[in-house]
Amino acid sequence: PERAQALWQKDKDHFIHPFTDFSRFGTHGCDIITESEGIHVQDAQGNRFIDGIAGLWCVNVGHGRREIGEAMAEQATRMAYFSTFNNLSNVPATLLADKLADLAPAHLNHVFYSCGGSAANDATVRLVHYYFNRLGKPSKKRIISRNNAYHGTTYMAASLTGIASNNWDFDTLDHLVTYLSEANCYRRPEGMSESAYCDHLVQEFEDTIARLGADNIAAFIAEPIMGAGGVLVAPEGYLRRMQAVCRKHDILLIADEVVTAFGRLGHFFASEAVFGVQPDIINCAKGLSSGYAPLGATLISDDMYEVLSRPQGPGGVLSTGFTYSGHPVSCAAALKNIEIMERERICDNVLEVGPYLEERLATLSRHATVGDVRGSHFMMCLENVADKTTRALLPVEARVGDRVADEAQARGLIIRPVGHLNIISPPLIWTREVVDQVVDILDQALSATTDGLRA
Ligand code: PLP
Repeated sequence: PERAQALWQKDKDHFIHPFTDFSRFGTHGCDIITESEGIHVQDAQGNRFIDGIAGLWCVNVGHGRREIGEAMAEQATRMAYFSTFNNLSNVPATLLADKLADLAPAHLNHVFYSCGGSAANDATVRLVHYYFNRLGKPSKKRIISRNNAYHGTTYMAASLTGIASNNWDFDTLDHLVTYLSEANCYRRPEGMSESAYCDHLVQEFEDTIARLGADNIAAFIAEPIMGAGGVLVAPEGYLRRMQAVCRKHDILLIADEVVTAFGRLGHFFASEAVFGVQPDIINCAKGLSSGYAPLGATLISDDMYEVLSRPQGPGGVLSTGFTYSGHPVSCAAALKNIEIMERERICDNVLEVGPYLEERLATLSRHATVGDVRGSHFMMCLENVADKTTRALLPVEARVGDRVADEAQARGLIIRPVGHLNIISPPLIWTREVVDQVVDILDQALSATTDGLRA
């Protein structure tokens, strides 16, 4: 306990955490996670929790996989790092690119590496701009994104991000980004059918193109299911229809699969397998290495690569990349992670247990504050409201998302609060028994929250 207290103090004094809520941090400090194994993590005080968020949508094969650690150690001692610039390469980066080309939809065969999801999205915008320059269409620069999208926090990725609160204190690159409405079935206009809602969203895209001019638009970026913005599952056919609009106007489709790839929806990539679209670019990170090492990858179509790879004049290069593009240790971790996913048929577990998780979580809608339970497979969310009929929100000061998460954590389960939402995005190795245990905990946590709000 003394060591835990000392660590807690050092953390509070010196570590600036991502997305810190300082009003809460000042009083709570941090839970320092010290151990992890399978579906569990443990903090410095020795409290053990079920991990309900896979670290942060990423530890897909679960914690404590020795063989990933060993593959990383082997690579780190053999050849920890060397440049991949200037026609240099390394074995894991090469093998992983080949493997990703194999796993991805058939037309995506070229891989650009970065260090995570934000950097992958950022690099993608540069690649897209480079592509249209090579085609002699330099005015095609603007990226169409959506309100409530989350694409990261480097400046470009943050500009693509449409969660307004993320950018309260910052500028967005407005000359490069335009936002459409998010596809939010729960909060769609009163009385509108899902298919009419889909028509409405597609028409908004068409109208936006007409207003801005297709000659000025490079790409449309979308998470197949919006994650941090509230696990929003679009109406049936939405992505296919948005893709058709893109094709019609020579606009590239970028699928941000940072969360949805690597099994969360039961497939290595969701775009084609789940939503029936063939994006020009798919970005992935997180589950690619199951979070054992930082890594992002941008998968590029054959057609796009043919243009990118055209030789330039003297001195011209594709000037985008990072010191750690294709980091050997990260790529070794990803290769072993994929080997485990294939050997243990992790995607099949998601296809089997996912619908059970959806079904069991749906029972929680009997609680007074639970307005919506939504998501797909191992990507789920509870939306807390003040009034189920009007869908009015509780006041921000009620901190309902934090309350539910705190009550769950006090009962041995970590889930993620995002404003009034609670996100559940488990390691992909949860079984039905774990789902039952989790739903029991959430049931109690929600009852305690309702009591707390009444008090
Ligand atoms: N894109 C999506 C869909 C994400 O959910 C995230 C992170 O949660 C990112 C991009 C950013 O990734 P990173 O935090 O690795 O930069």
